[in-house]
Amino acid sequence: MPTIARRVTTLKPSMTIAFMNRAKALQRAGKDVLSFAAGEPDFDTPQVVKDAATRALAAGMTKYMPTLGDPDARAAIAQKLTTENAIPNCTADHVAIGAGGKHQLYVALHCLLDPPPPGQAPQEVVLPVPAWVSYAPLSELAGGKVVEVPTTPASGFLATPEQIERAITPRSRILLLNSPSNPCGTMYPPDQLRAIARVVERAARTIAPDLVILSDEIYEKIAYAGIPHFSIGSVPEVAERTITLNGLSKAYAMTGWRIGYTGTSGDWGKKFIAAMGTLQGQISTNITSFTYPAIPVALRQCAPEVERMRLAFANRAKVINARLAAIPGLKTYPATGAFYAFPDVSAYFGKTTPAGTRIDTSLDFANALLDEALLAFVPGEDFGGCGCNHLRISFACSEDQINKGMDRFAAFLASLR
Ligand code: PMP
Ligand code: GLU
Repeated sequence: MPTIARRVTTLKPSMTIAFMNRAKALQRAGKDVLSFAAGEPDFDTPQVVKDAATRALAAGMTKYMPTLGDPDARAAIAQKLTTENAIPNCTADHVAIGAGGKHQLYVALHCLLDPPPPGQAPQEVVLPVPAWVSYAPLSELAGGKVVEVPTTPASGFLATPEQIERAITPRSRILLLNSPSNPCGTMYPPDQLRAIARVVERAARTIAPDLVILSDEIYEKIAYAGIPHFSIGSVPEVAERTITLNGLSKAYAMTGWRIGYTGTSGDWGKKFIAAMGTLQGQISTNITSFTYPAIPVALRQCAPEVERMRLAFANRAKVINARLAAIPGLKTYPATGAFYAFPDVSAYFGKTTPAGTRIDTSLDFANALLDEALLAFVPGEDFGGCGCNHLRISFACSEDQINKGMDRFAAFLASLR
């Protein structure tokens, strides 16, 4: 049999996607699975957004478009990044639009990292962990080496500026940040991000001149504990070495549309976006043409819907935080942003389920929960660091489902011996 390229056979499959698909397959087979696996809002896309795309489709907007996006959509994103995120010197030429945040991450990483020449050490990606499952595999695929900065529930899952400073070496190429965080559900306070920006600025002047910040802000609109979202790319000293990643999936309930974007600043930013255009021009060209008119509509006309969804997530966070806190043996850190709870379940390791399965890891835990309790959570191993002691619970679902799920979870934990 012919072989398959090693770069793919050695690539870790996405654990979030794996559990999401398993839950969906069981549901299709008629099983009453309660899924908390997908990082996907349960709301529908706002009607005005759908209407904009439908109108464009009916009008025949079905042809190839400029690779990095329709100029009006790029301009709307640049305006949003300028006014809402305070990113300086950001025009339509500083914006790339691609097929989801994940695609933009792939393209950006490939425009930053070079595989090491033979005998040389790889470039490094400094990554506070636990972090979203796709960051490390995609960084490695592009030729980088991930340097984990460990965080814990006790530190509010936040890396300190000192930790980041210690992790930076002459080989550091990227500092990858994600606030609000998937899977931790926490946010960096603005002052901590300003302090981290100072560390990066100093390192770039001294030991790591090629260091850039990749700031994934896809959950920026889902914040509910009084911590304001802050874009590190707004700090003038690092603006031109910050790449801001975002998309419409989470804020506007548009996961299936596959619309992600990248924003930059200044001369280097414009050059970087042009490089993304070169790569995108060889791998995907533009996104679905008739979705472009939906972008300015989402960004400019949907504040009431975004607020309604934010308040719903805030209530759900309260419900799940309280339910988890009442379960013996779990260590939790209350979610303040995004829509994930991430309890430490390691107190239950070493126990056996009623069906006789021994639970030694978070993966064992998630498998047993799905098989025996029809509850889909994502195991924490692939989020890195202390994630191996945690389960990720996406609460982008109704309060009723959260309560039913927590009843099942508590009963399952109580049944372990
Ligand atoms: N970043 C983070 C942290 C995410 O959780 C996701 C979820 N898929 C993405 C980026 C990418 O989302 P999408 O590809 O749907 O834009
Ligand atoms: N980001 C979401 C999650 O973490 C969707 C799946 C994925 O792309 O990883 O569940």
